[in-house]
Amino acid sequence: MLLKKYIRDVQDFPSKGIIFKDITPLLMEPKAVSICLDLLTEGLKGRKIDKVVGLESRGFFFGTILAQKLQVGFVPIRKPNKLPFDKRSITYTLEYGTDGLEIHQDAIQPGELILIHDDVLATGGTMNAACNLVESLGGIVVQCNFLMELTFLKGREKLKNQEIYTVLEY
Ligand code: AMP
Repeated sequence: MLLKKYIRDVQDFPSKGIIFKDITPLLMEPKAVSICLDLLTEGLKGRKIDKVVGLESRGFFFGTILAQKLQVGFVPIRKPNKLPFDKRSITYTLEYGTDGLEIHQDAIQPGELILIHDDVLATGGTMNAACNLVESLGGIVVQCNFLMELTFLKGREKLKNQEIYTVLEY
């Protein structure tokens, strides 16, 4: 409840009918960020993580500080044509059309234990593609970790084989 007051609902962004969950007010409150960080790691309970993967772009905010808190490396998954080095790509289906994600080929070693973080779980398509990308490099997804879940979009159904952890539900 305390944290929800820092999440701003923006009507009809980026398109009509969408209520955008804006976390920029939260990012301006260091105490709220600290609480979020503690809650985001609560579901791990000492389990081993080798790397944190964050999804472009809002998954980078907490992804990097999560990695720092866990004292492991951070790996960005980015939209197509942003990463400079050798990369692996995946395309996935959206309601209208397709989208893509990319990761550096050398970012994950086979058998590494990976936590993937993003700000919002909506339909689950983005996180599902990210899991497939990480697994294609031999990574083992330990947890799909979110600040919030839009439960009415049933994203969990697309992530049936993954452990899902989320701080806030809407
Ligand atoms: P999805 O693939 O449908 O689960 O969408 C997840 C991605 O879209 C995440 O990277 C979110 O940042 C973004 N996203 C989807 N819906 C919203 C929303 N209502 N507010 C903010 N971000 C959203």
